Amino acid sequence: MFLLFGLRSKDHVIGTRMMTCEICHWEAPQQLIRRTTRFTLFFVPLFPVKPAGHYMVCGHCLGFRKADPRLVGAV
Ligand SMILES: [Zn+2]
Repeated sequence: MFLLFGLRSKDHVIGTRMMTCEICHWEAPQQLIRRTTRFTLFFVPLFPVKPAGHYMVCGHCLGFRKADPRLVGAV
């Protein structure tokens, strides 16, 4: 008998906002993304293994960075 287990991360777009990017310094749409990581058993996601993380993705340079916690509730 064998077990196939692992972790799977999935991104959910929460919203988009026009802001100045911290990486390229352009005014561009910034996507706010919530990433959840779940334990999988035979490729079936079962339960989250850590709290969801929030990230920002720049529409101009595609830079990926951690989101400011104050923005999470604002978008
Ligand atoms: Zn950028």
